[in-house]
Amino acid sequence: MIPQLSTADLLDFARATAGFMPDDEGALLFATARTALTNGPGLEIGTWCGKSAVILGAAAREAGSVVFTLDHHRGSEENQPGWEWHDPSLVDPEAGRIDTLPHFRRTITRAGLEEEVIGIVGRAPTVARHWRTPLALLFIDGGHTDEHVTNDYEGFARWVSRGAALVIHDVFERPEDGGQPPWRVYRRALASGDWEEIAACGSMRVLRRVDGEAGNPVR
Ligand code: MG
Repeated sequence: MIPQLSTADLLDFARATAGFMPDDEGALLFATARTALTNGPGLEIGTWCGKSAVILGAAAREAGSVVFTLDHHRGSEENQPGWEWHDPSLVDPEAGRIDTLPHFRRTITRAGLEEEVIGIVGRAPTVARHWRTPLALLFIDGGHTDEHVTNDYEGFARWVSRGAALVIHDVFERPEDGGQPPWRVYRRALASGDWEEIAACGSMRVLRRVDGEAGNPVR
């Protein structure tokens, strides 16, 4: 039996978990989720090993809610062999491919968050075609190509309830700081007039849906 960790201990645990999120962005993610999740469930796109899922799970536990986290667990383009963010220790020798699923499961079990964090294993466009649940929070942090970020935005941001939060990670205005697709989707969302920016930290942007309803296509 794993003793229940305090929220502060969970956030420390998240800091020590493999992943790509500075502490100040993690703090903004927690604060955003803690408020938003009182109104319903959240969804994270891009689980990796569960670092941000622990942050979201800690917020969900306090809010009395849950967070779904979606990933095919095979790694994005930049995680493949020969790319910048490849980690050979994450390769499943039997499949000969990256498999972050066991790492995610271990993370959530150790955190004691199995009731609050629900993993979904699959490709985002496939899951999006069947998704019908209004969201109190959507965190887009999956693949970083235009195709993937656009699919995640069009497939899932439509399910964000009015007044609820859309968080986008890895938003870099300047190409020298990082890839541009999340920046383009962030600009598209703001230009639509359906979203307003309510917070920002590092490469994290927090938007609120101010027009449209859950289920309406996004512009
Ligand atoms: Mg990220």
